[in-house]
Amino acid sequence: MMYEFKVSEIAEEFGVHRNTIRNWINAGTLVAQEGPGRKYLMKFEDYQMLCEKFGREPLIRPDSNVDLRTVSTLETEKKIVPVLELGKKVKTLYDDSQWADECLTCGTCASACPISGVDGLDPRKIVRMAILGLEDDLIDSDWAWKCTMCAKCEDVCPANIQIVNLMRRLRSRRDRDKVPGPIHRGVMTCLERGNNIGIPKEDFLHLMEELGDELAEGCCPGFVTPVDIHGARLMVTVNSREPFAEPDDLKWWWKIFYAAGESWTLTSENWEGVNWGLFSGDDEAMRAVVGRIVDNMRRLNCETLLLPECGHAYYATRFCLNRWYPEALKEFKICTVFDLLLEYLHTGRIRVDNTIHTKRTVFHDSCNYGRKSMRAFGQAYYEEGREITRACCPDLVEMEPNRGSNYCCGAGSGAWAMPFADERVYYGRMKARQVSESEAKLVIASCHNCRDQFKKSLNQEYNLGIEVKYMWELVADSLILPGRRSLE
Ligand code: SF4
Ligand code: SF4
Repeated sequence: MMYEFKVSEIAEEFGVHRNTIRNWINAGTLVAQEGPGRKYLMKFEDYQMLCEKFGREPLIRPDSNVDLRTVSTLETEKKIVPVLELGKKVKTLYDDSQWADECLTCGTCASACPISGVDGLDPRKIVRMAILGLEDDLIDSDWAWKCTMCAKCEDVCPANIQIVNLMRRLRSRRDRDKVPGPIHRGVMTCLERGNNIGIPKEDFLHLMEELGDELAEGCCPGFVTPVDIHGARLMVTVNSREPFAEPDDLKWWWKIFYAAGESWTLTSENWEGVNWGLFSGDDEAMRAVVGRIVDNMRRLNCETLLLPECGHAYYATRFCLNRWYPEALKEFKICTVFDLLLEYLHTGRIRVDNTIHTKRTVFHDSCNYGRKSMRAFGQAYYEEGREITRACCPDLVEMEPNRGSNYCCGAGSGAWAMPFADERVYYGRMKARQVSESEAKLVIASCHNCRDQFKKSLNQEYNLGIEVKYMWELVADSLILPGRRSLE
């Protein structure tokens, strides 16, 4: 049964502004069709649901004013939707029932996902389509590429459906020439030339030497950039974006190594730590990039591997080591930025001044170091980042929710490199609201992508008025060296 109503009538009945009703209609919250004479038609059931939501008794009764001729006209105008042919599809997207078949269709995943509803993206729908075998539609859609694979949906799913695995497999099924943005190109360049951007070896070595000289002339007398040092305790990878676009960013870690008296080395070849195979769904590429890191570790006989650039680099590398190079993990360790900085602080190898950063500060939990590491490796990094940040910033507050329930910043899984900037910014609204509600003016991030999303996007888009630092930038800026208050 359908009812005809004016926007002003419903607005008055529910005590809201007329524009609110119009917004509900436009957003589909209130399902109504346009009728004649600036009126709308809605189903009685929808009207009842609205009443329930507002705790009201329905004023309209099923026998009230209905223009059945109008209804029949509107109904005949409905688009013909092709009938789905179920049961004839071959399902190749999943081989484990926990990837889809055990879904309860409860929708909890959709309500937790910050981008659900944009362009029809809905994790529950995606899982359902996989079950129904609508694989071509899923692979052709951009949903998997707009999802940041943050695992927030998985975290709340009562059936433990592996939605992120499904999303990544969807990415892997896309024809390589149709992978959005430069991600696949970067993967190929890395395989061919040793880094995602294709920086030649001579240019890289020259730049590393120059940066080292600048440090030696400034705050770190005697500093020399170590490259291919056999037997160094620590082998350190590089994010190619740094030498390419932000070379000074490398100096924060180098200052910390200098202050700690660390034995460390870069490598002259295959130094890339970023692994875009994780984002493009290319397992073979991911494996090959990590295989080169293993070769470098063996060649230089280093004790510990550090991927200082990003949570995803750590996640991808540790994942590949566990899966394809388990024997290598008997030869060397992989440590996180948290492990190393806490080791330095606990053993007194570095000291920090906690009077430099006086602004109210908040630490952003990375999805890769947090709930994704917990799911993949049984170990998440939540308290460590807070301890390091608090050592430098006494006024540390929290975002809500946090730790394993934290919202992704919106830039994960290659979102910065994708041609979906509007979606990335929209996704980040949850994060912006969290930061704003925390009243923090300094945000600390442990990933490149998160830092860039806060610093170069959300701060402007949502007028947050915040300062943003990498965790190691914060530590480097707080360092106390003998005879110095801090390293400037
Ligand atoms: S939360 Fe899990 S069980 Fe519920 S709809 Fe989403 S995938 Fe299915
Ligand atoms: S992984 Fe994150 S972005 Fe992707 S569907 Fe789940 S909650 Fe949404």
